[in-house]
Amino acid sequence: MTERYPAMPPRNPSPPYKRIATEEAWLPPEIMDLYIKEIQEKNINEPGFNQLWGFFTGDSELARNHRRRIQSLGDDRIADMDGSGIDMQVLSLSSPGVQLFDPATATALAASANDQLAEGIAKHPDRYVGLAAFSPLDPDNAAKELERGVSKLGLRGGILNSHTLGTYLDDEKYWPVFEAAEALDVPIYLHPNTPSPQMIEPFLNRALDAAVYGFACETGLHALRLLVSGLFDRFPKLQIILGHCGEALPYWLYRVDFMHTRISSTDRHPNVRPLKRRAWDYLCDNFYYTSSGVGWAPPVKFVQDVVGVDRMLYAMDYPWQFVPEEVGALDAMDITEDAKKAFFEDNARKLFKIA
Ligand code: CA
Repeated sequence: MTERYPAMPPRNPSPPYKRIATEEAWLPPEIMDLYIKEIQEKNINEPGFNQLWGFFTGDSELARNHRRRIQSLGDDRIADMDGSGIDMQVLSLSSPGVQLFDPATATALAASANDQLAEGIAKHPDRYVGLAAFSPLDPDNAAKELERGVSKLGLRGGILNSHTLGTYLDDEKYWPVFEAAEALDVPIYLHPNTPSPQMIEPFLNRALDAAVYGFACETGLHALRLLVSGLFDRFPKLQIILGHCGEALPYWLYRVDFMHTRISSTDRHPNVRPLKRRAWDYLCDNFYYTSSGVGWAPPVKFVQDVVGVDRMLYAMDYPWQFVPEEVGALDAMDITEDAKKAFFEDNARKLFKIA
């Protein structure tokens, strides 16, 4: 029987691995200012954004600290990394990123954000790499911006903050960005957003809409919509990253696989068709998983066990869950030294092409 609450021993001061944190949020001041404006003017008809960012654009100390931290690519962020034993961050545009805005506005904001991110990385190339934002509802420009971000700016993949104004990307018309990712040999990080307007209502009045639970429901649903749509039959080398130990999907592996095999073998559902492989195969061969927000060994080890040691990566979820003690809890995991190095360092180097 394990302890009821995870032990948080001090972190290893000189571990035999670098710690690369792979789901670390950043937001440029221009987008922060737009969020503040949208909240103040009550322009946005998206309950999840209004509840979450209504709080984080407010006056509490927690909100002010998060706003300071998330906009920094300089001394504040580096000091926090040094103070928590993080050697490198894989930076991405914080949820919901540009996906709150109309497609054309989002396209322009994504380009500007990617330029600023690349400039910030260039000042600390040994501490940061980053992922490119794009405007999902502007499919051709999304693909072009991902290509520009990777080829011209040196970014290492794309960031998709789940639904965009209630739209999921399982519709083929949004697939050019996935086609580009596969061709460029870079992953797309499918990061949470608050649940879409269609699904959020029963979460809201009990404050279950955000990181406590809603993020996982929303993002796990999006991942499964992509899977059952046949996305990975079209782009078999495409790699999607899921945080938070896979938004619980590895735990559901057996049942998702069993039931999807059964459902897709009938003609009951016009939008569900048999796939070339089983759901189990896609979840093991087309997805990587990170530990963001989970400073607890059992689910990390579970993903390593059922998916593979080579597909489980470390992430902190800075600054949203900046709890330096969690680093010590994961340093102390009872796994082989090779598995621990794969988790903290080697898998990230390979996936994000970090020299
Ligand atoms: Ca996050």
